[in-house]
Order: sequence, then structure tokens, then C-alpha cells
Amino acid sequence: SSFFSEVTEAQPIEVFYMNKLYLDETDSRKVNLTIGAYRTEEGKPWVLPVVHEAEKRLAADDTLNHEYLPVLGFEPFCNAARDLVLGADSLAIQEGRAFGVQCLSGTGSLRAGAEFLSRLLGLKTAYVSDPTWGNHNLIFKNSGFEAVNKYHYWDSTKRQINIDGLIADLEAAPEKSVIILHGCAHNPTGMDPTREQWHKIAELIKKKNHFTFFDIAYQGFASGDPDADAWAIRYFVEQGLEMVVAQSFAKNFGLYNERVGNLTIVVKDPKVIPAIKSQMSLVIRANWSNPPAHGAKIVHMVLTNPDFRKQWFDAIQTMSSRIREMRAAIRKHLEDLGTPGKWDHITQQIGMFSYTGLTANQVEHLVKEHKVFLLKDGRINLCGLNTKNVEYVAKAFDETVR
Ligand code: PLP
Repeated sequence: SSFFSEVTEAQPIEVFYMNKLYLDETDSRKVNLTIGAYRTEEGKPWVLPVVHEAEKRLAADDTLNHEYLPVLGFEPFCNAARDLVLGADSLAIQEGRAFGVQCLSGTGSLRAGAEFLSRLLGLKTAYVSDPTWGNHNLIFKNSGFEAVNKYHYWDSTKRQINIDGLIADLEAAPEKSVIILHGCAHNPTGMDPTREQWHKIAELIKKKNHFTFFDIAYQGFASGDPDADAWAIRYFVEQGLEMVVAQSFAKNFGLYNERVGNLTIVVKDPKVIPAIKSQMSLVIRANWSNPPAHGAKIVHMVLTNPDFRKQWFDAIQTMSSRIREMRAAIRKHLEDLGTPGKWDHITQQIGMFSYTGLTANQVEHLVKEHKVFLLKDGRINLCGLNTKNVEYVAKAFDETVR
């Protein structure tokens, strides 16, 4: 007998599974609307020009080596990342109440934050939006949370946020629950709360003494302006709330496989920071011990060099405006075709994704008959569209929903 004979096969991770089906597909009509990665008009991955420049500089710098970074990471990077999300003029930064810990992209930041909250603060109940990015459930469960509950988020009939349901759920949640919020460009719905709705959420979190856990993986992708996209987080900080913020630089720097992330921690009293850092060091020591340097050096260089930073802002504009053009294009094609249903939500939604409203059966049909690959909840990544395939995809949707 084998130690391993009792291991049962787990469900494949849907997004990677669908991406693989796309890659293996031989039909030349195929379109990939699955994985959350940016693609150019030519359907290719994009190395941001400023990232390429930074890499050349790093390669030419013969003072660099491959020694270990500290457990908590490359501090100048952590500071730059924290400043990007909170705003360099943030009162919390000036008062020494906010710092960063380098982690393995957004996922590692979520994991380190969740484990810290569960182990050190004894917080065991988390709430995620319904729906949310699938990995939230797995990360919080594996980090020692006893319950990962859902709060209402999406009203699929109105294709809007169900703010009353959301507020009622946060009200009913036991005190000191950890509330996971998407900082901007909600995945998968593409719909963020309005400022007024954020006010209500913050008020309730304060009232119920819940703990705020922001996840911001798309800063810049919602509006094209990284500062505007951090509005909700900055508002919560102004309200005096303590929080952790998991930041990913996978999407907005195109550094997916470099695993560049930061966990920004905001506290009320700077006196607690040394103890947090020492305990966080042990959490990370047992996970990855020390983070990789390459991507963090790139992000640090770009964010702190004014010329590079401007080029990065321009690249964000390029990416977010191409996505907006594709939203408009697919909506127009669907409306021109007279496709049954309303399609205005596609242009109301923001960020990389659209929650199309297509059903699981319709998705199956799209994959099988048209080789248009998307997730079974109907989420599409707009980046998979371009001027050459958008009409084809619209016609495929049209044929499918009729
Ligand atoms: N959070 C959300 C909502 C995401 O969509 C993603 C990526 O798809 C992440 C976090 C983190 O991704 P990564 O670990 O690649 O930075």
C-alpha cells in the first residue's frame, strides 16, 4: 500500500483549466477570455516599456547580487508600495502608523495577512463578497479561519450591487469579523460600490468593530488613475480604521510571474509596530522565508524615479483605455445585432472583467460551438478582445442567447 493511496483528486482550478483548454484548442477561431492577464491589440502579453527599461538598468548594475533579502522584504519597495496605495501625503504615513511587508504578489499578501490575523489576533470569522475571486475562500480557510462566510454583493437581476443586502449582512455578522473588500475593480463583477455606499460600509465596520481587509489587485485598471482607484482605501484610513491591504503588482506592472506584492498595515498607535513586525517575521519565515528581489527592485525603481513613474502612468492609461474601447465595441456589436437582453452593463462595469450575465449552459455552448473560452459564471476578461475578434465574439454571444 502507498501513503498516497487515499488522496482523492481535487477539482481543477477553473481559470487555469479553461486557459489550458484554450491553449490546446486547434480551431483558429478560438478566443481566450479566461485568465486575468492583459493582452495587446495583437493578443500578446505586454512587457511595459518602462519595466523593460528598469530591467536593463538592473542588468547593467554590477553592484547587485543575489543575497537574501530581509524576511520582511526590500524596505524601499515596501515604502513605495505603501505610498502608492495610501498616497504619499497620507496622515497615517506622516504619523508613522503605516508600513509595508513585502510578500509573494497579491496571493502571498493575502496569505500573510490572513495568517497574522488568525494566529496573532485570534480572528477566526471572515466575510467575502458573493461572488468573489475564488482564491479568497481557500486562502482564509488554509490560514486558520474557522468560517469564511459570504456577504451579499451582486444583484444579478438588476446587475447592480445589492447594498442593502451587503449592509444587513455586515450588521448581522458577529463583532470583530474580518471583512474582505476589493479596493477597486471588483473581480468578477466589475462593479465597485459608489462613494456613498463606501461611506455606509465604513460606518458599519466601525460600528460593529469589524476588521477591514482590503485586497487591491487592479490599482489603475478601474479608472486609469492609480490615485483615484485607491479612493476607498484612503477614505477608510481617514475614518481612523485599522486595516491590512494586500497589494499585487502582477496586473498593473505586468509582472505576473515575478510575484511582487506588499501587505500595507495601518494601525492606530505606532507603538505596536515593532511587535507586529517581529511576529510577521515568523509568519513569513515559515512560509517563504524571504521574498524574491527582482520584481520588487523594478517596481521600486519605477515608482521612485519621476520620469519612469510618468511612463508607468502612461502605460496604465494605454491598458485601461484599450479595455474601455473593447467594452464599447462589444456592446455596440451586440446592440447592432439586436441581441436579446440589455448590454449596457458591459460599459458600466470597470476594470479587466465583465460579468456578462451569460449562464453556465450558454458558456458551455460558447466553448463548444464557437471556441470562445470564458468562466462558467459568465465572467469575461475584456483584454482577450481586439478589433479583429470582437465582432466574432459578439456574433457568438448573439447566436448563443437566441
Ligand atoms: N485578488 C484578486 C481579486 C485577484 O483577482 C487576483 C488575481 O487574479 C489577486 C488578488 C492576486 O493575484 P496575484 O497573486 O497573482 O498577485
